[in-house]
Amino acid sequence: MVSERITCSGCSLLCDDIIIRSDGLYIDEVIGACLKGKERFDQITSKNRILSPLIKEDGELQKATFDEALGKVIKIIKNSSKPLLYGFSTTSCEAQLKGIDLAKTINGFIDSNSTICQGKVLNISKETGITLTTISEIINKADLLMLWGANAAESIPRLLNKVLFSRGKFRMTGREIKTLIVIDPVKTASFGVMGVRDIALQIEPGKDIDLIRVLKEECCVADSVPNNGVAGIDKDDLKRLLLHLTGAENGVIIIGQGILSSQNSPNVIKELLELVQLINVKQKKGRISIMMLGGHYNMVGFDHVALSICGKNHSLQFLNNQLIESKETIVSKIENEDFDCSIIVGTDPISHLPWQLSKKLMAKPLILIDNKQSATSYVADIIIPSAITGIESGGLAYRLDHIPIELKKIIKPPNDILSDEEILTKIMYGFKEGR
Ligand code: SF4
Repeated sequence: MVSERITCSGCSLLCDDIIIRSDGLYIDEVIGACLKGKERFDQITSKNRILSPLIKEDGELQKATFDEALGKVIKIIKNSSKPLLYGFSTTSCEAQLKGIDLAKTINGFIDSNSTICQGKVLNISKETGITLTTISEIINKADLLMLWGANAAESIPRLLNKVLFSRGKFRMTGREIKTLIVIDPVKTASFGVMGVRDIALQIEPGKDIDLIRVLKEECCVADSVPNNGVAGIDKDDLKRLLLHLTGAENGVIIIGQGILSSQNSPNVIKELLELVQLINVKQKKGRISIMMLGGHYNMVGFDHVALSICGKNHSLQFLNNQLIESKETIVSKIENEDFDCSIIVGTDPISHLPWQLSKKLMAKPLILIDNKQSATSYVADIIIPSAITGIESGGLAYRLDHIPIELKKIIKPPNDILSDEEILTKIMYGFKEGR
């Protein structure tokens, strides 16, 4: 039995301080992971683990060999003129690269979960600019942390431990000088870590943009805070919020699903980025940065891989094996039924997408590459099980602050299950060889 320090792929924080004891076949002990991280390790032997390829016959999924499933996948792709590839935020960068290669080879459209999450911010930032930061910088320098629509305590369980309760290199003090501001319409678990100097702001649902506009206005015209407050936040709290935002030496606004979600118009993100730029221009001695709280462990990776090889971070449409201009996204492709089969990798769109889109997605042949059962696995036509990245296969992933981190293979996967990268490679070569 050997003890080893490894990185957890349970969420986008990619904690690299996890100790495991393993004999190379089994993991005996996991030390340092949160409950969510432990669940990731429990997935190895979980009841909902997919351990065999499955093919739907007469409406029922039946066990098959890998070659049988691969043959069926290639047949579907060969008969398809508009394949759709989606997911990839819980796969390594190497698998993401293979996914893009496959999309190019089969003239498909490929998108990652980032499109409907933090990719939106990156897109908008092309117009407004963006000031990003890293976990180390927050630990070492931050005096203000703001969670905006981000329930960090539950979605990225160890984030606040690391960035709020830590003592920075360049500070004699830790938590005592860090102010936490939480803005959310719902009293989430993150409200539970508030100290006496912190500020909890329960905003009226859908009113984020009103608050941002008042803050922007105040940055330009002093004393423009409305007497009655705004969006359910009273004047005094607004003034305190402004004081912190404009007085912080090193502040970070961590934005989450509450503000990234599709219910909010893209203007919310645009105006929030503009507000940050306004403060940074006005602020002479300090700086405010943005951090995006995408949950999947390598959502950021797809943006980097796609950008580096295609010059575009998502929604890639290939024709004649070339990237072409397209304004489509995964949502518009499904909405307009502009696809004739789908390859879903490591995600569960049937649960995540609105029902009217899920219905359209499942109406056409659906191939799933994943390691656990989900709503999508119940409607899939073919399922190919994959190894768990970061445990049974290695590769590169990008942490939520865009830092690349290497994931290790610790144990052998059961039943010689292949990694996402290997499966996608086999599909591509099978297609090229005309199996
Ligand atoms: S916070 Fe995320 S990466 Fe860290 S141990 Fe928990 S699940 Fe794993």
